[in-house]
Amino acid sequence: MQNFQPEEVIVEDGSKGGPIYQNLRRALPQVPFRFVDNIASANGIANDSRDSFGSAKKKLYLGKHKGEFLKKCPGSEGQVCCNYFVINFASNCPMDCSYCYLQEYLADNAALKVFSNVGDLIDEADAALKKHRGVFFRIGTGEITDSLALEPYTGMVREILPYFAEQPNVLLELKTKSDCVDTLLDLDPKGRVVVGWSMNPQRVIDADEHATASLTARLTAARRVQDAGYRLGFHFDPMIEYPDWEIDYRAMVEQTFATVDWRKLSWVSLGVLRDTPGLKRTMRERFPRSQLLTGEQVLCPDGKLRYYQPLRVAMYRQMVGWIRQAAPTVKIYLCMESREVWEQVFGYAPSCEKELGNQLGNLAF
Ligand code: SF4
Repeated sequence: MQNFQPEEVIVEDGSKGGPIYQNLRRALPQVPFRFVDNIASANGIANDSRDSFGSAKKKLYLGKHKGEFLKKCPGSEGQVCCNYFVINFASNCPMDCSYCYLQEYLADNAALKVFSNVGDLIDEADAALKKHRGVFFRIGTGEITDSLALEPYTGMVREILPYFAEQPNVLLELKTKSDCVDTLLDLDPKGRVVVGWSMNPQRVIDADEHATASLTARLTAARRVQDAGYRLGFHFDPMIEYPDWEIDYRAMVEQTFATVDWRKLSWVSLGVLRDTPGLKRTMRERFPRSQLLTGEQVLCPDGKLRYYQPLRVAMYRQMVGWIRQAAPTVKIYLCMESREVWEQVFGYAPSCEKELGNQLGNLAF
């Protein structure tokens, strides 16, 4: 992945001196640091009128998170949900995929932020995990940021991972399109951490996943963390349809399962391109030459645009077939799809979100 060199780091009062601040100072010695009372009122966020969202990625803010860290994943109305929780330790992402939903979700709050109050995060998670020892939590950190893209600078995952590794009722998922795994390799995840890579063929990465790691770099990183004792997941998502997409996707599937030990994979998910009319408008402004703007999509009941259903089912069936050939026993699930599509692809649909969540929780071990 491209090196991240922000124009400046803006630090809120009260965040100076903590571990994340120290890590940033060490990792970014050439970058100016500015200190402010409150990052919410600091100037300079998204002030480039031509591409305010892109400009927001060039400065890094460090401040306290004032709300709750742990939340249930909102899922998508009418789609089969996998009963997932999220912890947001940062907001926005230094990479820049043309289809990224954060362009719409964070449009009014686009600053690239990292939260400094790691102790509060752990206290909150600890209270929830201890209060519900009978519940198994799958917790992801990649809902409004990439889990690992900022890791070489913030060391955030290194700070929190040892706590989660000790808990009996949790699986922490780090989802990424980066290859930033160096800080993880000497930690012991104790079977409690899955590193999940979002995967696409190199042609899609070159066209629409700007500043992310190459396909080969993602796979090399995946093998390294697997060898270091981490569990692995792969998310073939968002799948993009274009002429001869089958050739690229089949080759990617084969390369993936030839690189890692697929017998030890926790899961594989599939999902097609999803966007909204609002996100499409932003994509047209920011990435007018993207191939993603030309495909035909239909508006689904959850307000998202997707390829029409027969095409989605055909794409999923082909992917499932290639995955089964390369990795016959790996667990595959669909992300944000209707029961109807599940039934057409697999011949069944999970009876409820708990069933899918439990299956994935059990499969990870
Ligand atoms: S890596 Fe993920 S969070 Fe970052 S820009 Fe791409 S889609 Fe968005």
